[in-house]
Amino acid sequence: MIVENLSELKKNNFFAIIIGSGPAGMTTALELERKKIKTLIIEAGDIEPNQNNQKFLKGEVIGDDYNDLSVTRLRQFGGTSNLWGGNCNPMNNEDFNLWPIKKKDLDEYEDVAKEILSLDKKESFYLENFSKNLNIYNIVWSNVNFGEKYLNHVKKSKYIFLSLNTVFLNFNDNFRSITSIDCFKNNQKINLNSKFFILSCGGIENSRILLWAQAKNKKIFDSKLPIGKYYMDHPYHNIGEGLVLYDKFISYFKKINSNNIPFLTCNNSIFLSAKNNFIKNKNIMNAGLYFAFQTINEKNDLFKQIRCIAPNFIKNIYENLNVKEKYKVSISIQQEQEANIENKISLSDQKDPFNMPYPIVYWKKSALEKKSARLIAEELSKIFIDHDIGRISLKEYLYNDDKYEVTAGNHQLGGTRMGESSIDSVVDKNLKVHGKKNLFINGSSVFRTAGHSHPTYTIVKLAARLADHLSKTRV
Ligand SMILES: Cc1cc2nc3c(=O)[nH]c(=O)nc-3n(C[C@H](O)[C@H](O)[C@H](O)COP(=O)(O)OP(=O)(O)OC[C@H]3O[C@@H](n4cnc5c(N)ncnc54)[C@H](O)[C@@H]3O)c2cc1C
Repeated sequence: MIVENLSELKKNNFFAIIIGSGPAGMTTALELERKKIKTLIIEAGDIEPNQNNQKFLKGEVIGDDYNDLSVTRLRQFGGTSNLWGGNCNPMNNEDFNLWPIKKKDLDEYEDVAKEILSLDKKESFYLENFSKNLNIYNIVWSNVNFGEKYLNHVKKSKYIFLSLNTVFLNFNDNFRSITSIDCFKNNQKINLNSKFFILSCGGIENSRILLWAQAKNKKIFDSKLPIGKYYMDHPYHNIGEGLVLYDKFISYFKKINSNNIPFLTCNNSIFLSAKNNFIKNKNIMNAGLYFAFQTINEKNDLFKQIRCIAPNFIKNIYENLNVKEKYKVSISIQQEQEANIENKISLSDQKDPFNMPYPIVYWKKSALEKKSARLIAEELSKIFIDHDIGRISLKEYLYNDDKYEVTAGNHQLGGTRMGESSIDSVVDKNLKVHGKKNLFINGSSVFRTAGHSHPTYTIVKLAARLADHLSKTRV
């Protein structure tokens, strides 16, 4: 139900207070509701977007070009899912090598995640052999905007209480426990108690809130916790183009396709990633290589470019009258970024209208990422040459020190990463803040490594697992 009045909030006894109603917070509330457990969601935004609320999401970025922080996050019921792209794919086994949990620990929440994200339960994710060093995988699309899908459900729920336009301000603690939180609603400050508190405010806000709590009260958290550190994203860039003989590509695909996976998933695209051995041997980070087919004619500039690199291949295209379908492929890459302590979130001197410092995000790409993009793309190039499928022209910056532009800022990962000890992580394997008995962090800020997959499918599984864990503590 939607709670308008402060006294109603005070008189209820909530098992957990969830701060934030994006995919992370909403999933935990929905899963606790399934177990008939009562939660309160505190949401700073309203049902509709409001430019005034976006002012709270300003911030500075130091380093490489990065999307404006007030554009890539939404302070609204349903959070940033009001503008996300809906691409879903799981992280791989190896992505969890450095985590204290394994992929199988999240796999049991796959059906729940598919239901919450309205993914077709029959459509399974796959990761199959494409070549010696590359795998082929798929992306499944979700059309779920959490605000739209769950508003009526929450309105009718006996277990989920939602307080909109309610801003979290402060934690109150008693040594190892958070005793209550201070919030602001209807022009009043209100103090709320609960057994558990679950911070689900998004990749950057989770760190910002913990850093601000620590700045006000040095003893609230273990001073060693690396709050805000190891911030990561998925830099995305277009790295080249290629010419493909479609029928030759199809026959190559048929040869390698022993498990009968469908050809072309969404947007006429094929998704490839590096195999683990290749990653290890070359000492690189993984990436998702996307190539999308477009039909072309001979007047295209790409013909001219490829003619310089591979004149015989082009000659063959013109001479071989049987080959009718000539395709251009555009090649982009979404990269895993290394967990670097220098990439971090800290607090600015500039403050929001509630006097909370805005975040500063220090974010840079690394030479390793450029090398990884080049080596993975060259693998595709080799397959094209070896099987005479086509030719690829990669961008020059992959081979020199030139600066290059990427899209980054949409996937905000790390900052409160998961781990065994408080020296190098902020939360444990159950998402509990080290040293605190009842404060949990929910969302992609807990990612220890980034993988290259879109984060929300993993966020939802982690949030469902958190609900399961908390429900087991109920006596
Ligand atoms: C343009 C774009 C495209 C994207 N496309 C994809 C995609 O295709 N696939 C994918 O997996 N991911 C995608 N993402 C990322 C995806 O949107 C996020 O991973 C996801 O929304 C994170 O969920 P969350 O619940 O952790 O945080 P959010 O969705 O950001 O929700 C946080 C919530 O906390 C609330 N909040 C914040 N501070 C406070 C406070 N002080 N008090 C109370 N409430 C507060 C906010 O109002 C918000 O409702 C995209 C993101 C962008 C920007």
